[in-house]
Amino acid sequence: MDNDLRRQYLAALGVPLWLPRRPLAKPVEAYPPESSDHPSLSKEGNIQDRLLSVPKMNGEEPEPLSPANDWTPRMADDRKLLVETVAADFSPAAPNRRAATIGQMDWETLVTAVRECTACGLCASRTQTVFGVGDRRAEWLVIGEAPGADEDRVGEPFVGRAGKLLNPMLLTVGLKREQAYVANILKCRPPENRDPTPEEAAQCRPFLNRQIALIRPRLILAVGRIAAQNLLATDTPIGKLRGQVHRFGPARIPLVVTYHPAYLLRSPREKRKAWDDLRLARRALAAEPPAPIQNPVEP
Ligand code: URA
Repeated sequence: MDNDLRRQYLAALGVPLWLPRRPLAKPVEAYPPESSDHPSLSKEGNIQDRLLSVPKMNGEEPEPLSPANDWTPRMADDRKLLVETVAADFSPAAPNRRAATIGQMDWETLVTAVRECTACGLCASRTQTVFGVGDRRAEWLVIGEAPGADEDRVGEPFVGRAGKLLNPMLLTVGLKREQAYVANILKCRPPENRDPTPEEAAQCRPFLNRQIALIRPRLILAVGRIAAQNLLATDTPIGKLRGQVHRFGPARIPLVVTYHPAYLLRSPREKRKAWDDLRLARRALAAEPPAPIQNPVEP
């Protein structure tokens, strides 16, 4: 991706792109590696110069970046982020006959089963179910929480304000929305956008599990606390789940956690962390062995 295009995507995400106006004369002091402040927010000094130097991790003098590398502020992935954590349970619910039936469905049967589902009380208040959308052979599976009012009306995940931020987030790592598959923990909107209950999530989970099995993604991006905690069967805060590559299910699919775009709309300073997460996801996927060749007649 060229720098102009990348600058547009990052601008849409709200992350500034820094380019040198002139060659560097000499190294200058870099912002502290552990600083949580976005450098663009600092009023002190020549920010551009500060961004163009990288502090060495052993405390030696910083050295300038080469022009080829200086399109972005220094990010947290200079540190080792590829940490493996415990494998997540594939399904927190005990296997049952319904789950076993869903686990055998092809795409079209699954679509119908979701559309007609009455397994929890949300069927009474929904306008329609929100199955999921995208490339059924996608490498990236993006999983959010649940449909909101816009999604309930349109029948597609992430079409409201949050969705309008999710799309440029994905573009920062070169991924168009239609190249990914996008789904949610729940297929139906909880009234007043309240959090899904554990019971609702458990009833809906066989549908999501079947989607995952059919898609066979090479990477799962869990978007927001609810998605992350449900998929990883944990109540660990999202801040602690970020920055690591988890493993999901028997196929040990790499899973990376990031903030929900609705949260980023409320807390724009955290966008930079979301960008770190996406780049971690991209690196995790690059580190995976190539996908096995799929039989073209399989679903
Ligand atoms: N938030 C989500 O988590 N999912 C959607 O589909 C829309 C908003």
